[in-house]
Amino acid sequence: MGPQMGRLFKALYFAGMVAEVILRAPYERRRGQIPKTDQRVSPAEQALLAGLSVTGLLLPLIYSLTPWLAFADYPLAPRTKTRLGWPGALLLVAAVWLFGRAHRDLGSNWSPSLEIGAQQTLTTTGVYRRIRHPMYTSLGLWGLAQALLLPNWIAGLGGLPAFLAFYLVRVPQEEQMMLEHFGDAYRAYCAQTGRVVPHLPS
Ligand code: SAH
Repeated sequence: MGPQMGRLFKALYFAGMVAEVILRAPYERRRGQIPKTDQRVSPAEQALLAGLSVTGLLLPLIYSLTPWLAFADYPLAPRTKTRLGWPGALLLVAAVWLFGRAHRDLGSNWSPSLEIGAQQTLTTTGVYRRIRHPMYTSLGLWGLAQALLLPNWIAGLGGLPAFLAFYLVRVPQEEQMMLEHFGDAYRAYCAQTGRVVPHLPS
């Protein structure tokens, strides 16, 4: 891809990140005021969250601001990289949209870690009507977008394994916690939803 397209796709990537920070900010602020009754933040989970920050932000920054990761660029023609970049841009927009939508639907039930608030309710509406983990769907879409927008084995493709590791550890723990708190209501909710892909009504 020409240097200009490369710069455009990098700029889009960071614009998507700024958009997500802005979308999350009001929920982040509100969250500080809600007491928690159950906190299950484990060191493993913190390590996996840190892994997401390293592969999602730190490595893309190093890739964009220094030549240090150039050795790991995909060995593809510039035109091919541009052809990968455009679907990457679409996936990024989809990821940011779903991220914002899920925050709005989850409202004050949202938390970045595994915890239950004093007034937590079970959200089953909006995007949560058909998917239990739309934010993780959004993270997965983000990982794919990253791999297409940043044509580099480390800064681009690195997001996907970090996401997979986080997802595989977090989801069973989160569902166990929700099951303990919401019991049959959560069991029924699970029966009518998919984890990250909508469960279509039969
Ligand atoms: N896994 C969800 C939510 C991520 S935020 C998603 O991907 O969209 C993580 C917190 O959300 C958890 O600590 C839990 O307290 C809360 N949570 C998850 N699913 C929920 C639901 N259906 N209703 C209410 N709170 C939920």
